[in-house]
Amino acid sequence: MPIGARTLSKSDYKIARQCDAKLFFRENGYPDNTGMNDYLKLLAYGGYMVDALACARRPDGIALEYGRNHAADFATTMEHLARDDVTLFQATLLWNRRLARADILEKRGNAIRLLEVKTGSIAGDEHADSVAKGGRGSMRGVKSPYHIRNEWKEYLEDVTYQTILLERLLPDAAVTPWLVLVDTSRRSGIDDVPSLFDIERGGRDGAGVRSMRFTGTRDQLAELDILLEVDVSEEVAMLRGDVDSAASVFESMLDEPFDRSWAHHGSKCGSCEFRVGSGVEPNGFEECWGDLALARPHALELFSIGTAKSPDRGPLVEYLVSTGKASLLDIPEAGLRTAKGEIGATAARQLRQIEHTRSGDIWIGPQLRDQVAALSYPLYFIDFEVSRIALPYHAGMRPYGPVAFQWSCHVVDAPGSTPRHSEWLNTESTWPNLTFARTLRDALGDAGSVLTWTAFEASQLKDIAAEHPRFEALDSGLVDWIRDLIGTRFFDLHKCARDQFYHPGMKGRTSIKVVLDAVWKTDPIMREQFLQWTGRRVSASEDPYKALPPLVIAGVEQSVHEGTGAVRAYEAMMYGAERRDERARAQWRELLLQYCALDTLSMVLVFEHWRRTTGIA
Ligand code: SF4
Repeated sequence: MPIGARTLSKSDYKIARQCDAKLFFRENGYPDNTGMNDYLKLLAYGGYMVDALACARRPDGIALEYGRNHAADFATTMEHLARDDVTLFQATLLWNRRLARADILEKRGNAIRLLEVKTGSIAGDEHADSVAKGGRGSMRGVKSPYHIRNEWKEYLEDVTYQTILLERLLPDAAVTPWLVLVDTSRRSGIDDVPSLFDIERGGRDGAGVRSMRFTGTRDQLAELDILLEVDVSEEVAMLRGDVDSAASVFESMLDEPFDRSWAHHGSKCGSCEFRVGSGVEPNGFEECWGDLALARPHALELFSIGTAKSPDRGPLVEYLVSTGKASLLDIPEAGLRTAKGEIGATAARQLRQIEHTRSGDIWIGPQLRDQVAALSYPLYFIDFEVSRIALPYHAGMRPYGPVAFQWSCHVVDAPGSTPRHSEWLNTESTWPNLTFARTLRDALGDAGSVLTWTAFEASQLKDIAAEHPRFEALDSGLVDWIRDLIGTRFFDLHKCARDQFYHPGMKGRTSIKVVLDAVWKTDPIMREQFLQWTGRRVSASEDPYKALPPLVIAGVEQSVHEGTGAVRAYEAMMYGAERRDERARAQWRELLLQYCALDTLSMVLVFEHWRRTTGIA
């Protein structure tokens, strides 16, 4: 195969399964808006760790290099596979135009185990229990014909794709496909797990990860026994026909010009990575939607659009496209009601959005005033940052267990008084959850309403108290305090934003950043309060979050504007390549503190806006 010829990689196959048009845009280098955002960086970080752990269990394994010359990489793989007994990492498989890098191949004579390593989790005890009782395990339905559960399809299709390739390349081999997953029924036996990995930095901006290596001892590896290898031969047999024929179709599309019939319109188009801003060329979204891409306000901005129906109870977006419409104001209201004509909470929010987008008016719900007035001072506005990644960092924790590493709190002692700020950020490599909760108890005391944005804080507190066996044993009074806090003092401001308030600038969204930004532009008193409380002047046309100053850390400009970015900053500060660089750690700390403080201050600003607009202030 010539260098540069188009191939159908595993990632190509995966994206084509979402929408045929995406394959064309990806193959032809259309701009997308994923970049390497914080969420993807975090996922990649966890993926590298799990991969490194799986490889560490095979000290005889050979890590193969690979680059743009797929044919040469493939030839190297086949040379190694000519041996009787060999274990390969990142082997290159190439058949026709299909390409895959196999995480792990273990060849013993004629038998090959093909292992795909994923960061996905499985409760190994429940899986084993299902199999022991005659079921087919956690990836399958509980009754005959034991269909494959939707949430496992993507992983299983991935391993099926590779299995087909390997069988075509080595028709005499007996290939067994496996998934390697993190097992949430196991716990880590050791502390400070991230320090056992060596990170090599890479990527375009130098801030990503090129590779990771487990540097711990054999004993430490045994203590970190949290991976489960699951034989997925049956599932691959069920999927292979479908995967093979889909892959053939995708291969045949690789060199074809764009065909509008590949565009499968739906509510998913709203979050499509090829929905780049107008003026960006080439523009995948505009090629799929044609003139309908230019509708303003666009129907895809509707709140919870995935739940909206057409008047004939079919999917709304497909209906609109078929009638040549795409404006939010063209959405038929009849379809938003239930079949009986009733209006639920979601439909009410959708109808409100359409009505007040049309009028341009702000809407204050009939219960907002009473809800705001009923809260008891002092008011505590709180926000947590909690990391949940694949490998448990501390002894006794399970994979994806919560690591509560920061809280921020703004306290308003009496109506209209200047908020006071307090915060806590973990900087120790030990299990932080108990200290997190104790310092929070010191800050919140036993009286006063505690205001959050969404139920996130309540659910995290419940989880950290329940997840670790040491929590209740060390401080049972703390568990009682958490129960009382959640049961009697919490109040969710997000519910007010969703059900009792609408600003046309919010469009279909209700996050604190969106609500703040919408009100910010139209409320000079809010901007003045911000100046008074922070000493920072941010104009009406700026976004207070985006105005947070970035810092250059180890030569790379870094900033934190949202929750996933905060988790990534914490990972970098505690366990990243600069973890032993005190200046870099201090800079990450500064970014984290300024971001989280703004989150709780934003809640105070929005709350004060509501007090004014409801006539309480
Ligand atoms: S905009 Fe819609 S139709 Fe076009 S690629 Fe994205 S998801 Fe597919």
